[in-house]
Formats: sequence, C-alpha cells, structure tokens
Amino acid sequence: MRLLSTRADLEGWLDGVGWRQGGGPVIVPTMGALHEGHGSLVERGVALAKERGVKRGCAVWVFVNPTQFNDHADLERYPRTLESDIAMCDSRGAAAVFAPGVGEVYPAGEQIAVPELPRVAMNPGLEDAFRPGHFAGVLQVVRRFFGLMRPSAAVFGEKDWQQLCVVRAMAEAEGLDVAIVPAPTVREADGLAMSSRNRFLAPTARRAATSLSRALCRACGETTVAAAERAMRETLLEANAEIEYAVVRDDTSLMPVAQSASRGESGRRALIAARVGTVRLIDNCAWQ
Ligand code: AMP
Repeated sequence: MRLLSTRADLEGWLDGVGWRQGGGPVIVPTMGALHEGHGSLVERGVALAKERGVKRGCAVWVFVNPTQFNDHADLERYPRTLESDIAMCDSRGAAAVFAPGVGEVYPAGEQIAVPELPRVAMNPGLEDAFRPGHFAGVLQVVRRFFGLMRPSAAVFGEKDWQQLCVVRAMAEAEGLDVAIVPAPTVREADGLAMSSRNRFLAPTARRAATSLSRALCRACGETTVAAAERAMRETLLEANAEIEYAVVRDDTSLMPVAQSASRGESGRRALIAARVGTVRLIDNCAWQ
C-alpha cells in the first residue's frame, strides 16, 4: 500500500488514469481516527474496485478538513491517529492512503471553489441548521478531492445521512461521472453507532449514548410519524440527552412528511442529533 502525502505523490500514483476513462480509483473519504465503521467502508471500496475492474484499486483519503468545522474547539480536539489509520487501510486491502497537509489542499493565495449548495443542504433544518456552514465546507473539500483524485466511485456512510444526500445532489447537479455509493452504519454490540467522537464519552455518558439507537428502534415500532417522533423524544429525555432533532423525514429531500403518515411505505428516514455530556452524536435508520 502507498502513502501519498502531497499532490505530486498523488499525481505520480494516478499516473494518468483519469475519471474520464472511467478508470479512476474508488475512494473512501474520511477524516481519519478510523474505526471498524470506516474499515467496512474500505472493504466495500476494495470489493467495488475489483467488481468494476478499476486499475488503481481503492484509495482512502484521510484529511481533517478545517472548513467544515463550525466549532473551533471541535477541530482542535479532533483525534489524529495517522499511523493506526494506515495500518487499518493496509489490513483491509486499500491500494493507497492520501493524507495531505492543509497547505496541499488549500494552498495559500489560491481560492478553492465552494459548489452551489443543493436544497437538501439548506432547507431541512437538521445538520444545516445546527452546524451552519458545515455543508459548504463538506462540499468544498469533496469537490476538491474529486478534482485531485479523479475517482470513478466514492463510498459514503449512511451514518451521515444528510451528508450522503448532499454529496449525491451535488454530484448530480454538477454532472460528475462519480458513482456515490452508500454503506450501512456499523454499531457497537449495544447499538451505539461507531464514531471517532465516542472516545470522548465519559462512562455515564457512554451508557446514555445508547439512547439514540434505542430511540430509533422504538420509532420503528410506532405506526405514525407523530407517535414515532414522540417515542424518540421520550427515550432521549429519559437518558438526559439534549435533543437537537428527533424526526421522521422524506429520505431524499429530508423535508417533513405528514404527522399522520403511517409506517409501511418506503422512502422515510428517522434521524436524531443529540448532545450527551459534552459530545454531539447523530444517528438514523430507515422508518418503514
Ligand atoms: P468521518 O467519521 O467523518 O471521518 O466519516 C468518514 C466516513 O465514514 C463517512 O462517510 C461516514 O458516514 C462514515 N462513517 C462514520 N461512522 C460510521 C459507522 N459507524 N459506520 C459506517 N460508516 C461510518
């Protein structure tokens, strides 16, 4: 496996294999601090590269993107574990890790374009409302890396459901020839969705953190949107989680559906964001 630290390293590695020929690598975008959830994305990327006969295989990008953090303290304390990240990618069969410094991605004096925000990045009132500016940063870095890495496909986790929708909408709006491939959320044995931020949960908060997945499970036992949203709120409040949102939405536009709508139809998603102790957590599942 190759470690690529600069754009020149990357160019040398790509060696003229471009997305226009459909031969670009399958990429897995991450901010590092990799866990088993990321590991499953890498495995999916490696398998996909084989299926598609992609010459360069699967490349993982590891980059803590400063422009998508709306909270400076969160950026400062974001875990950085490059050595173990490299070992994880190698063990899962990745062909390369691209881990550039900030100056490689955003060279001083160079304006890096921010793609136009699609509606799903602005209107739902979910991550867009609670993390202002976040999706502009996400789309800026995704578009930048797509330009640099020229992928034929990119794997994104369903864990960040709105991000997946936003990236899909951007790729479609810009007519990019990159398949956006979703991968399911990997969980701890007690249901907590794996996250690089889970390490900051103190023992009591760690127990309370399971309220997100429990709330989603309860929602899936209710028959109307109103009852599902009520059940989620109850479960989160019982655990003293501070709710940002706990809602059932259309799974593509992420806009509200009727409170009286009943379960059984596809195309709906239950989504939660809550603070547990000092940590902000998100989770979601299909509501059907
Ligand atoms: P990040 O944790 O922000 O570096 O996320 C990098 C990618 O990993 C994103 O596409 C996430 O949706 C995905 N991801 C994060 N946590 C999980 C998880 N528990 N299971 C599956 N994918 C995940």
